[in-house]
Amino acid sequence: MSTNKHRIPDMKNSPAETATGDAELFSNAGDFEHQLPSRRDATIMMVDDEETTIDVVQMFLEDAGYTHCITTTDSTQALSMISELRPDVVLLDLNMPVVSGFDILTHMRSDPNMKHIPVVILTSSTDGKTKLKALELGATDFLGKPVDSSELVLRLRNTLTAKAYQDRLAFYDGLTGLPNRRMFMTRLQRALQRAHHENKNCVVMHINLDRFKQINDTLGHSVGDLLLKLIARRLETSLRPDDMVMAGEALGPHGNLFRIGGDEFTVFIPDIGNVENTTQLAQRILTLLAKPCNVAKQELFLTSSIGIAVFPDDGHDLDTLLKHADIAMSHAKQQGTNTYQFYSKEINARTERRLSLEHQLRKALSRDEISLHYQPKVDFASGQIIGAEALMRWMHRDLGMISPVEFIPIAEETGLITELGAWALHTASVHCKGWHTAGLGALRVAVNVSSQQFRQPGLLQTIEAALREAQLDPKHVVIELTESMIMANPNETVTALRMIKEMGLKLSVDDFGTGYSSLSYLKRFPLDELKVDRSFVKDIPGDADDAAITAAIIVLAHSLGLSVVAEGVETAEQLAFLKNVGCDEYQGYFFSKPLPEPAFVERVKRAQHD
Ligand code: C2E
Ligand code: MG
Ligand code: MG
Repeated sequence: MSTNKHRIPDMKNSPAETATGDAELFSNAGDFEHQLPSRRDATIMMVDDEETTIDVVQMFLEDAGYTHCITTTDSTQALSMISELRPDVVLLDLNMPVVSGFDILTHMRSDPNMKHIPVVILTSSTDGKTKLKALELGATDFLGKPVDSSELVLRLRNTLTAKAYQDRLAFYDGLTGLPNRRMFMTRLQRALQRAHHENKNCVVMHINLDRFKQINDTLGHSVGDLLLKLIARRLETSLRPDDMVMAGEALGPHGNLFRIGGDEFTVFIPDIGNVENTTQLAQRILTLLAKPCNVAKQELFLTSSIGIAVFPDDGHDLDTLLKHADIAMSHAKQQGTNTYQFYSKEINARTERRLSLEHQLRKALSRDEISLHYQPKVDFASGQIIGAEALMRWMHRDLGMISPVEFIPIAEETGLITELGAWALHTASVHCKGWHTAGLGALRVAVNVSSQQFRQPGLLQTIEAALREAQLDPKHVVIELTESMIMANPNETVTALRMIKEMGLKLSVDDFGTGYSSLSYLKRFPLDELKVDRSFVKDIPGDADDAAITAAIIVLAHSLGLSVVAEGVETAEQLAFLKNVGCDEYQGYFFSKPLPEPAFVERVKRAQHD
């Protein structure tokens, strides 16, 4: 008669941790042979309705040094026990009442959480059909009944070794030897639960190498691989448990370091103590990774960006924490790389809007949501409109008007600026030609060109094509470049500017006064016009300093043969002052806001009749 009986050994370590021997796997880096778990730690589960068989096998196992055995004679309970306790191997009897060994095996193989657990079938049957059926259903091995002790130990050893190898492949990154994303997701669940019970704060730190793709693309993947290994070792040393006072209980000598993607590493800190500790660690990692890397006889300079999410404030589960650390990391990159950033709701909202705008901007042109508005430029001497600055507008179908201050940087970062910029040059040229044809006078159109656009090789051809298609004389087009753009790369800029100039266009320095260039330095560049930034104009004539600077800029610019345009003129006082100090042209709300093209045409006509 069989009694229904489960025996679960008293295990200090939870079975989930010992189940795959991962506690051990965690603790060894280096070559694979040394990373196999001590198989005596393995949890072995036995399902057999005959208690005597269980007793005999258990005795053999204990003699061989296996101390973690779970047994049951009740096959109806077997599946739930396996699912909950996740043994390293199951010894399974086939002939059992109600639920057979075949049933259990079939179930296990269709359950993603159990399908990788090896199953050794215990059978007294020598019948080939039974064996074949068990193999078909996914049995790993067979053991004849009555069980022979040496055969049992040998088959177990082989099965556990194969399992350890599989785990190694599944849970570790082959290149760096670090635990991988899967390990992160499965093993840290318990650490979070513990932190929850003990009311502690954990940290997920997401580290991404800056411009790693560029290195991979230019120097080749083998150099990239070496670099990743080197970075992994560096991170490991910076995270040594004894070095990490606040680390609390480290999960292993890797620190709690994972490689979760190509150039993405994650550090998990089970108990941060205080925020100061986290920022110190982040800073230390940044400094360490920014040191030059000697790889393949080259000295490479690399920086990284770090995003930080804190449990439980920034998320209750690993998925959310990882996602939020990732968002914070993207934000750190936008801040200019080589920096760290904590996750926050504001960052999240901003990042989400940004991602959504980025996505939508790709469709904006084809959806006809982009247009150009024109702000009149007025000549001080004659009071006439002599041209206009083209300013891009994005009328989003749901979000309404989006400022170029927001979407131009996105366009730059995503490369969409090439397309948008070419469209603006083309559209502005066509409009300008239209004004001429309509008899509005020899109006000029000014088009803003951003730094990305300026650096890309096809710019000259784009300008040339726009003018040709519009049949517009180049002398009517002004290209506006910001002061900081010109100064960022003066030597290359001079060459590019000369070529544009030779094509017959005019060149203007936008936002002058916000950078650090001196006027005499600008003499090197073939410029025609200088636009005094709105920040100076704003407080004149009241602010004596700004008034003096503006007056001086105008005098110096004239001495260099540049004409001066004042930006952002809003009041009659500003206008009077600027006229008095000899400014050549102005634009601003005082005369007119930027207008849709038809309204601009009307405005010019009205001015001509006044
Ligand atoms: P910007 O080239 O310096 O343009 C002048 C900005 O000042 C415009 O802002 C204009 O609407 C605003 N403005 C003009 N008069 C006044 C005034 O009296 N008071 C005040 N408070 N503001 C005034 P907007 O249109 O928002 O454009 C912002 C920036 O976006 C531009 O600065 C330019 O750098 C960039 N941008 C606009 N369109 C384009 C484009 O087609 N291509 C590129 N690359 N950048 C563009
Ligand atoms: Mg401008
Ligand atoms: Mg400006």
